[in-house]
Amino acid sequence: MYADLHLHTHYSDGTYTPEELAERGREHGIKVMALTDHDTIDGCKQMAIACVERDIEFIPGCEFTVELDGFELHLLGYFLDLQCAKLIAQLEKYQAVRQNRIHEMVSRLNELGVKITSDDVLDIASCNSPGRPHIGRVMVAKGYCRSLDESFQKYLKKGKPAWVPKDKMSASQAIRLIHEAGGLAVIAHPGLYHRDDVISPLVTVGLDGIECFYTRHSTPMTEHYLMLAEQHALLVTGGSDCHGDNKGRPLIGGVKLPYSYVEQMKSALSV
Ligand code: AMP
Ligand code: FE
Ligand code: FE
Ligand code: ZN
Repeated sequence: MYADLHLHTHYSDGTYTPEELAERGREHGIKVMALTDHDTIDGCKQMAIACVERDIEFIPGCEFTVELDGFELHLLGYFLDLQCAKLIAQLEKYQAVRQNRIHEMVSRLNELGVKITSDDVLDIASCNSPGRPHIGRVMVAKGYCRSLDESFQKYLKKGKPAWVPKDKMSASQAIRLIHEAGGLAVIAHPGLYHRDDVISPLVTVGLDGIECFYTRHSTPMTEHYLMLAEQHALLVTGGSDCHGDNKGRPLIGGVKLPYSYVEQMKSALSV
C-alpha cells in the first residue's frame, strides 16, 4: 500500500479537479492521498468524496507558506480539522494577502510593458488562493512568455522585476495553528532549500515531521533526510507535489510512500 501526501488541485495552483486527481491516483495504485493546496483547504471536502468513491483513504491537508528569520519555506499540515474556526480565519487572511499581491505584481508587469490585467489572472485562477503560476499562465496565454518556467525566470522569481514579497505567517505561528487544528506539521521538500539549519529551530517550536520522499529529492538526499528524521525523532512523509499538467508531465505516481509511514503519523495523533 502506497501514499502520495503532497498534491495540488485548481483550488490553488494545480490544474486538476479533485476528481481528476483522485482518478489519477487510482490509476497509479495509490491508496492514500493528502490534498495540500497552497494556503487553502477549499478543495478538501470535494477531494474527500472523490477519494471515498475510489476506495482511497483521504487525509485533509494544506501547504502553508511561512517565514523563519526572513527565510521563506513551506510547511505541510496533515489531518487538519476542516471546521477549525481559527484555521479558516487565518487562511482567509493569507488568501487576501495573495489576492492583493496579484494586483501589485500585475502593476509591476504593466510598467514593464506586459499588458495583462489582474482580472485576467484572477479569472484564470478562479480560486481563493491565487499565486504566481496563475500570472505565469496568463503571460504564456498572451504570448509574453513561451513557458511557465520562462515567466518565473524572467519576471516572477524572487529578485526578478515583477516579484513582490508577501506577508507570511511565522513558522512557529503556523505550527501552533496546525496543532490547534488537530494536525501534524511537516517541513515540505527540505532538499530544495539547502538550509538544513532551519530544521533544529523548527523542531524547537514543535515540528512533527520531514518530507523525506519527494520528486526532486535524489536517493542520497532522501537518505540524508531519513537520517535527520531519525536524529530528531520526527515522522517521515513523502509526496509528488503534482500540480496537474501545468509543469510538464503530471508528477503523481512518481513518489510512493510506504503505508507504514502513514500509520506512524496516525499513531502520533492516535487517530
Ligand atoms: P506563490 O505561491 O505565488 O509564491 O508561487 C509559488 C509557486 O509557484 C510554487 O508553489 C510552485 O508551485 C510554483 N513555481 C515556483 N517556481 C516555478 C517555476 N520555475 N515554474 C513554474 N512554477 C513554479
Ligand atoms: Fe505550487
Ligand atoms: Fe512547496
Ligand atoms: Zn506543493
